[in-house]
Amino acid sequence: MSLTSKYANVRLDPRQTAERDLRIRRLGVRIPPGAPNSACGVFPALTTLCCSTVGAPRTAADWSSADLEHPVNNHDSQLVTEFSIRLPGWLRTELARLPGHIADRDDRIRIVNELAGRNIAEGTGGPFAALVVERDSGKLLSAAVNLVPEVDLALAHAEMIALSLAQAHIGSWNLGADPARAHSLVINAQPCAMCLGALIWSGIGELEFAASGADVERITGFDEGPVPPDWREQLESRGIAVHAGRSAAEALVVLQDFRARVAEGSATLYNG
Ligand SMILES: [Zn+2]
Repeated sequence: MSLTSKYANVRLDPRQTAERDLRIRRLGVRIPPGAPNSACGVFPALTTLCCSTVGAPRTAADWSSADLEHPVNNHDSQLVTEFSIRLPGWLRTELARLPGHIADRDDRIRIVNELAGRNIAEGTGGPFAALVVERDSGKLLSAAVNLVPEVDLALAHAEMIALSLAQAHIGSWNLGADPARAHSLVINAQPCAMCLGALIWSGIGELEFAASGADVERITGFDEGPVPPDWREQLESRGIAVHAGRSAAEALVVLQDFRARVAEGSATLYNG
């Protein structure tokens, strides 16, 4: 594996350049003359020490493995101890434009369809987006898109990120802690096996999605995992209401766009 290919999208915080240089010297990595700061991402052990993943230009492309001198038997003491996921810049900009409350259910689905389409157009992930809102008032707690290929994390599905951001927003792992303030997870497509489990533990009170899992698999080729046939009944037995099919036709258009991009080589089918 090329050292430059996997970590080249990791950008160094300029404020931490001095610390980066100190660590690189200690680890025995030689820096080529004129190498950009962002090139610190070529060494994986440094990514949680001094870097942030923000989708930077792949400025480390000029590096080659010959430019690096790996320390021997030093990896055990440099294991990664944390990770983080940050929404892409275009979505952070969009968040500022979204209303604070999205009371209309058609609007909620319209927004996730639009964000999913934008995500593949921007090249920042798969064709999926999610919102967490207060079920009744529509107060927006979080919005997210799929970032699996962008951040190289298999768990970075839109639902996982949206639920996590919402929990961080209220400062609790339990989105159902206040019975008077139930929350809805709104997605452009049915959750996969991983996200199905996560939403059960999240305390969410309601799930609404557009396209079915069968449509996702048929159109895109994604493997949605071993979702049990009685999954809706399982959710409802735990007090999670399920609504499906609103604006499904618009959701299918996004999935078809993604399939076309995979066929032409401009998008990645990261499982299935
Ligand atoms: Zn998922």
